[in-house]
Amino acid sequence: MDLTIISTFRCNSRCQMCYIWKNPTDPKEEVTLETLAKLPAGFDNLNISGGEPTLRKDLADMVDLLHPKARIIEISSNGLHPERLLPIIKKHPKIKVRFSLEGDATTSDCIRGEKDGYATKVAGLRMLQEAGGQDLGFAFVIQDENVAQLVRTYELARSMGFELATSTLHNAWQFYKNDNYFYERVAVARQVEGLITAMLKSNKPKNWFRAYLNLGLIEKILGHPRLIRCSAGTDFAFIDPWSDVWACNVRSDLPLGNLARQSWSEIMASDAAKNSVAKVHACQQNCWMVTTARTAMRSTLVPQAPKMGPLIWVLKNKLKVELGRAICFDQYIDYSNVAPTPRVQRTSFLNEKQKARLVRGRETVDARYPLKEFMNN
Ligand code: SF4
Repeated sequence: MDLTIISTFRCNSRCQMCYIWKNPTDPKEEVTLETLAKLPAGFDNLNISGGEPTLRKDLADMVDLLHPKARIIEISSNGLHPERLLPIIKKHPKIKVRFSLEGDATTSDCIRGEKDGYATKVAGLRMLQEAGGQDLGFAFVIQDENVAQLVRTYELARSMGFELATSTLHNAWQFYKNDNYFYERVAVARQVEGLITAMLKSNKPKNWFRAYLNLGLIEKILGHPRLIRCSAGTDFAFIDPWSDVWACNVRSDLPLGNLARQSWSEIMASDAAKNSVAKVHACQQNCWMVTTARTAMRSTLVPQAPKMGPLIWVLKNKLKVELGRAICFDQYIDYSNVAPTPRVQRTSFLNEKQKARLVRGRETVDARYPLKEFMNN
């Protein structure tokens, strides 16, 4: 099982597609190390995320605590405080670190509302590389404003010896957003095709399967059903800053339990978990985030191996690319069927004075996630 720990909702970025920064948590209310110590060992990918995890003073201790409990520990950071990750990388060089980067300096800083963010994260990731970091990369949220720079950012990452993880706009409780819509779905989707081809041309099998993940992103962008059924609550789960455990980070009606009050085994065997997993089986959303997609692609018999569908697609199209032939995307994607969406303008918060207001004592789910409806279609 994969697990994401949303360690805090505090964040020092001011992104246009994620409003976590407007909803900071009180550090006193955030999931503690004592609570996280209750997690069993045996997770596959355990992601320490946020908000911005480097704002947690106990991040290094958290990594030490969680390191023996998972095959892969990942830290998803905005990269604005790379120096805080330096001692962690020196101690655990194999830890996976991803810094959010949304294209070139102007575009990335504009989308993320970060003054000099691009320069800080590029220099910061290099610093972690020089310190011995072995699994470093950027994470790119595909949207209308930056999709033209997608392939260039991939090539830049490769030239520096880094990975590029991709995701796209989602509405989700984790992001405090329910109005993230593409302006031009087809135009965005067509640009992702270039990344898929570039990834299949690489010599890294990891990139070939990322190409398939990006095929799923095209379906998501166009508003089509998911490529593979979701297995939230069974193959992956999320812990929010209040120690609540959720089947996924999109729907706020899929609770599993609370790790501060229950043991992990109690949570997984609870009626709440059974109810939420039943709802997952009927879920009609077309979300396609890395966690949900990566786990969906895995074989149910041999979890380290891919399912047959993605494997065949990858082999077929890798061969095609090697032979110098173009991938016929229209064979896989129905571009004539594109879901309509409202146009809700996203605005940059760069150079805007935006103060986050801390609301203490949010006791209920309604108080914590007041938007309630998070639809991806
Ligand atoms: S498909 Fe449904 S259950 Fe699965 S991650 Fe998306 S919203 Fe959650």
